[in-house]
Amino acid sequence: MNPSKEIVPIPLVIIGAGAAGMAAAIFAAGTDASPRPILLLDGAKKPGVKILVSGGGRCNVTNKTVTAKDFNASSSAVVKRVLKAFDNRRTIAWMEEMGVSLKLEETGKYFPVTDKARTVLAALQRRIEELGVELRSATRVGRIIPDGELFRVELSGGENLLARRVIVATGGLALPKSGSDGAGLQWMRELGLKVNPVTPALAPLIFGEGDPVGDALRGLSGLTTEVRLTLHTPGGARLTESVGSALFTHFGMSGPAAMDLSRHFSQWVVANGGQRPVVRLALPGFRLPEDANGWLVEQAGKFPKRLVATILEEVAPARLAAVLGEGMGRIGDLRREERLELARRMTGLPIPVVGDRGYPFAETTAGGVDLSEVDPVTMEVRRVPGLHLCGEILDVDGRIGGFNFQWAWASGYLAGRGAG
Ligand SMILES: Cc1cc2nc3c(=O)[nH]c(=O)nc-3n(C[C@H](O)[C@H](O)[C@H](O)COP(=O)(O)OP(=O)(O)OC[C@H]3O[C@@H](n4cnc5c(N)ncnc54)[C@H](O)[C@@H]3O)c2cc1C
Repeated sequence: MNPSKEIVPIPLVIIGAGAAGMAAAIFAAGTDASPRPILLLDGAKKPGVKILVSGGGRCNVTNKTVTAKDFNASSSAVVKRVLKAFDNRRTIAWMEEMGVSLKLEETGKYFPVTDKARTVLAALQRRIEELGVELRSATRVGRIIPDGELFRVELSGGENLLARRVIVATGGLALPKSGSDGAGLQWMRELGLKVNPVTPALAPLIFGEGDPVGDALRGLSGLTTEVRLTLHTPGGARLTESVGSALFTHFGMSGPAAMDLSRHFSQWVVANGGQRPVVRLALPGFRLPEDANGWLVEQAGKFPKRLVATILEEVAPARLAAVLGEGMGRIGDLRREERLELARRMTGLPIPVVGDRGYPFAETTAGGVDLSEVDPVTMEVRRVPGLHLCGEILDVDGRIGGFNFQWAWASGYLAGRGAG
C-alpha cells in the first residue's frame, strides 16, 4: 500500500477496458466539462481480446434492427430505455466519426468494411488516447470498497487508489482467458446488490453419450442446416424456440439456433435444481405433426415406391434425412402409425442435450446484476451513489447478431455520460 496515492482522489476510475468500458471512457471524456484525469484499468496485458475474436474476427458491431425483444433481461423496460438513448444509428454514426465505416450484410448484421475486428479495436483505442484517458493495462483490481463519498480501489499489486466515481465494466464470465472472470459480479454481491444466477449464454450444446439419436446426430458432424429447436419442460410444456442455422459437431450442436437456445436451457437447469429440460429438433418447414403427416400422405400417393429417406431429402439435407428415415423402407409401405411417428420425428425429434460447453466457449453471460439496481439514465447504482455499471455485468444478454455489442455501446454511453 502506498498512502501517498490516497491523498488526491481521482475523479473517475473505469474498471474494464472491454467494449463497454471503452465506450464509457470515450463518452465520459468527450466534453469540455469532463473530469480529469480519467483512469481506465484493465487486468489484461492486451485489453480488447473479445473484440478481436468477435464475429469470427470481423466484429459484428450492431444490427439493422435492434429492439428489446432481441434481449433476455431482468427488465425489458430498462433495456428499451437504454437502447433508445443510444440506438444502432448512433452506433453507426459514432463508428463513422472514429473512422470505422460499416457495411450491412443480408443477415442484418453490421461489420466494418475492412472485415477486420482490429479496425474497431484500433479506432476505440485511438479515440481513448486522443481524449487523454489514461489506459493502464495489466492492472487488475482486487476489490472496490465504498469509503464515505469516495471509493477505495484495491489493485492486485497492493496499491490503493481513491476515486470519486467508479464505472465497473468488468463483463461477465464468458471467455475467461480474455480476462473476464466474474470478479465484478462478486464485488456487487458483496455490496449487497441483487445478482441473478449466471450461466453461459450463446454457447454450443453438448449431447449425452450412449443415446442412439445423439450418436446418429453426432455422426452428421460438419453438416449445417436450418432447424427449429424447441425447449420443453420434462412434463412437455413448451418454453421457447429458436429458429435458424445449426451446425452438427462431434460433441453436439453449434451454430446460431443452438447457441441462441443455450441460455434458456442452462438458466432453466439452474432455476430447477439441476433438472434438465427437453430439446426437440424440427425441420423448419413444418410446424405441427399434422402438417408433416399431410405432406407425407401426399408424397406416398405420388411416389409410393420411393424410400422414406429419399423422400425426406426434399425437405432436409441427405445426411439428416437418412437419420430421420432410419430403419424405414418405402414410403408407400408405411403403416399409419409408422407414418405418424415419422411426422412426429420431423416436427419434434427429442435430442439428448445434457448441457452447454461452458464459459470458455460462450459468447456472453446470462444473468448478472438485476437492472432494478441501476438508474437507467446514468447507469448509477441506486443504493451506491457514485458507482456506475455497464455491459455484460448487468443482467442482459442478446441473441446472436451484434446485439451484445449494441448493449455494451449503449450502456457504456450512458454510464460514461452519467459519471463524466
Ligand atoms: C468469441 C466471441 C465472439 C463474439 N462475437 C460478438 C459479435 O460479433 N457481436 C456482438 O455483439 N457480440 C459478440 N460477442 C459478445 C461481446 O464480445 C460481449 O458482449 C462484449 O464484449 C461485452 O463487453 P463488456 O465490456 O461488458 O465485457 P468484456 O468484453 O468481457 O470486458 C471486460 C473487461 O474487464 C476486464 N476485467 C475483468 N475483471 C477485471 C478486474 N478485476 N480488474 C481489471 N480488469 C478486469 C477484462 O480483462 C476485460 O477486458 C462475442 C463474444 C465472444 C466471446
